[in-house]
Amino acid sequence: MPTESSTSALFVVATPIGNLNDISQRAIDTLNMVDIIAAEDTRHSRTLLDFHNITTKLISLHEHNEKGRSASLVEQIKQGKNIALISDAGTPLISDPGFRLVGEAHKCDVRVSPIPGPCAAIAALSASGLASDRFCFEGFLASKSLARSARLRELQDEPRTMVFYEAPHRIKESLKAMQEVFGVDRPAMLAREISKTFETIKRGGLEQLALWVAEDSNQQRGEIVVLVEGERKVSNQEVSAESSKIMDVLLQELSKKQASSLCSQITGVSKKLLYQYALELK
Ligand code: SAM
Repeated sequence: MPTESSTSALFVVATPIGNLNDISQRAIDTLNMVDIIAAEDTRHSRTLLDFHNITTKLISLHEHNEKGRSASLVEQIKQGKNIALISDAGTPLISDPGFRLVGEAHKCDVRVSPIPGPCAAIAALSASGLASDRFCFEGFLASKSLARSARLRELQDEPRTMVFYEAPHRIKESLKAMQEVFGVDRPAMLAREISKTFETIKRGGLEQLALWVAEDSNQQRGEIVVLVEGERKVSNQEVSAESSKIMDVLLQELSKKQASSLCSQITGVSKKLLYQYALELK
């Protein structure tokens, strides 16, 4: 186990996104050790702290007071206090407050230490089976339909898996807007109520998911992550049967790069296209 530094610090502590047992021992130790816990909503966090018998002093730090409070919290750390930052759920700063406080700490040369743990985006991605080697986190789409569609259009050519947070009362509208931009068949996934009693993980095309949500009002409740597969510019169909056969053989022995280069020399098909083909192979 790495030794903990004795310098006072701001600890950015991830907390559960549903199941209160989804918290690391190190997070519990840190929350017990610090002098103050800055929480997005003190009443909400009290439930978690009571569950784990943590009695550390709580103060509030939310989007409306973060600007004013950050400097004084950082000053206290400079004077030797340890402070933990938590949000209502998951990892602070990920669609949650803390950005100003962490920025202020860096500005004042105060040590910032993350205590890793749950994050709905990562949990959903890990269960999606969609490409996870590269992905982009989009957070919440705008609530107004014009702004939402404008942002989706900007993502029209995004090749990476896209991760969105969505409020339950907007899920139907968002899925409709996504179909308009990405097409009805674009593979996607809904992850609802992760780690809670009614956890639901559902894969399908955007239209299929939209119908499923429309038909079952339970799917319009709780907390939801939407994942959408990135745009696949080069379709495998563009690589001829002969080229794909050669690629399949070469890939058994060679790297993607080597196989595409060799196959390109044999068939005359573009190396880039063949490399893309190799990337898309499941
Ligand atoms: N900081 C959090 C994190 O690390 O994931 C996110 C906070 S953001 C205010 C809340 C949004 O996260 C919800 O609207 C939902 O999109 C997603 N979320 C949080 N908990 C979730 C859960 N248990 N299941 C599915 N989505 C969840």
